[in-house]
Amino acid sequence: MEAFGLALQKASASEQINQREIVALLSADAEQMPALFAAADTVRSNTVGDAVHLRAIVEFSNYCRKNCLYCGLRRDNKSLPRYRLAEDEILQAAGKAAALGFRTVVLQSGEDLFYSAAAIARIIERIKQKHDLAVTLSLGERSREDYRVWREAGADRYLLKHETADERLFRFLKPGGDLRERLRCLHWLKELGYQTGSGNMVGLPGQSLATLAEDILLMRDLNVEMAGIGPFLPHHATPLKSAAGGTLELTLKTLAVTRLCLPGAHLPATTALCTLAPDGRRMALGCGANVIMPNLTPPGVRDKYLIYPQKSDITEQPELALAGITSLLAELARPPATGYGHAQNFSGGNGNGKLEGRVYQ
Ligand code: SF4
Repeated sequence: MEAFGLALQKASASEQINQREIVALLSADAEQMPALFAAADTVRSNTVGDAVHLRAIVEFSNYCRKNCLYCGLRRDNKSLPRYRLAEDEILQAAGKAAALGFRTVVLQSGEDLFYSAAAIARIIERIKQKHDLAVTLSLGERSREDYRVWREAGADRYLLKHETADERLFRFLKPGGDLRERLRCLHWLKELGYQTGSGNMVGLPGQSLATLAEDILLMRDLNVEMAGIGPFLPHHATPLKSAAGGTLELTLKTLAVTRLCLPGAHLPATTALCTLAPDGRRMALGCGANVIMPNLTPPGVRDKYLIYPQKSDITEQPELALAGITSLLAELARPPATGYGHAQNFSGGNGNGKLEGRVYQ
C-alpha cells in the first residue's frame, strides 16, 4: 500500500504517526481527500461525539503591543481605529451570551497592557458571579503571575496559538518574539490547570508540509485540549499584503490530520476558514471540527477587530448567526452541546504537556 494509505490506516487505528506519515496525509490528492476527511469525521464522532460546542467570543480590545507581520492589529497599523471596551461593556456582552444560551464566553484582545491583571481578574469574577458561563481567555503572552491570578479568579481555559513550530519562521513573523517563550507560556498555563489551546496558521510564506507536520506534533506533545487551525490570509495593511494566502484544501487537510493525531481535542471550525469559502464551516464540521465560535463583540466595534481581511462574522447579528448555526447543525444531525464543553482529555493542572526533549524546548 502506498504511503498515504498506510499512514491513514495507522492513524485511523489510533496508532501514533510520525512526521513522515503526517506529511503523507497532508499530501492527499483530490482522490484521497474524501477518505482522509471521512476518517477524521469518524474519529471525531467516536471520541468527542456529535455535539457541537458553541463558544461566544467577545473581542474587547484591538490595541496590541506586538507587531506581527501578518496581523491587522499590529501596532504599526496606523490606519486601524482602535477601541477598548469598558468593564461594564464586557460584562454586558457576556450577559448577552448567557441570555442566548451559550455556556462559554471567550474574552479575546490584542496584547493590551491597559487592562491590568487585577482588572481582568475582576471581570472574570463578575462574569462567574452573575452567569453560568465557563470563561476562556485569549490575551496573548503574559507573566506566569498574571495567568495564576486569572486562574484563581475562575478562568477555565486559555488560548495561545503557537502559530508556527518553525523557530526561524516564528522569529520572522513575530519581530522580537521567541517560540521558546511562547511555549513556556503554554507550559505555565498547563501547570496552572487551564484547559489549554494552541493552534497554527496554514499557508504561511516559507512554510512546508514538514513544518505543518511539526505544528501537529508540537500540539500532540503539548497535549493541548484545543487547537485552532486557520488559513493565513494576507491583510492589506501589513508587510505580508502581497504574500499568497493559505488554501481551503490544505487548511481542511491540516484540520483532518490534527483530529487524527489529537482525537480528544476540541477543534473549532474557524471564522478564517469561513472567509475562504461560504460553506467553510460545514466543510470543517465534516472533517474533524466540533466547535463554533460566534462573535458577540458589540456591533459598533466588531468591524475593527480585523486580524485578517474580509472577516466573515463582522456584520452578522448574534441572533441571526445563531439561527443560521442551529439550522446548519440540524441539517447535519449534529446537536448543539448543552454543557460547558470542558475538554475530554483534560487532566487538570498537572502540567502534563510533554515539552521536554523536542527541539523547540
Ligand atoms: S497576532 Fe496577536 S500579538 Fe500579534 S499583532 Fe496580532 S493581536 Fe498582536
